[in-house]
Amino acid sequence: MVKIPEQFSLLYSAEDIDRRVTELADEIGQAYAGKMLHLVGVLKGAAVFLSDLARKLPIPTTFDFLAVASYGDATESSGVVRMIKDLDDPVESRDVMIIEDIVDTGLTLKYIEELLRSRKVASLTKCAFLDRPDRRKVKVTMDYVGFTIPNRYVVGYGLDFEQKWRHLPAIYAIN
Ligand code: 5GP
Repeated sequence: MVKIPEQFSLLYSAEDIDRRVTELADEIGQAYAGKMLHLVGVLKGAAVFLSDLARKLPIPTTFDFLAVASYGDATESSGVVRMIKDLDDPVESRDVMIIEDIVDTGLTLKYIEELLRSRKVASLTKCAFLDRPDRRKVKVTMDYVGFTIPNRYVVGYGLDFEQKWRHLPAIYAIN
């Protein structure tokens, strides 16, 4: 077991996460019954959540990933989002769901949403494991959210601090 630094306080245990991801998968499964859902994960943070969610979904899915970056330091986004890795496959006429690790200012999600809509998807929904609405700079409407969190920087379950701690199976707030 990895040693957890003293400054980390547990927000959601692996069991809390497992339970919530199961609920989300059931909800999404009902909404998309009989359909094929194309999951678009935002690298790197959403990789862990996407792989757990996909394995619990009771419907067939396909995956693709894109990577974006916002200029700024590790914890404060500047607001300018740019593409680092585009999708491998076309999304035109597909039922697409964007999978995010966390929605903070909303700038990343807004950029990706506009990009995918311009590629003429059949339908588009947005699912984030975490939502921190306090820091929103642009309006984004979420279709599915795992947990709504207070204004604290979090790590684990795909989320990093300086590229570390993504592997932790629980979510911690850094004090
Ligand atoms: P937004 O564009 O909504 O401000 O930020 C989205 C991205 O910023 C997330 O996908 C995530 O990579 C990063 N981010 C925002 N808040 C946190 C946080 O509390 N912890 C970590 N590790 N990353 C965050």
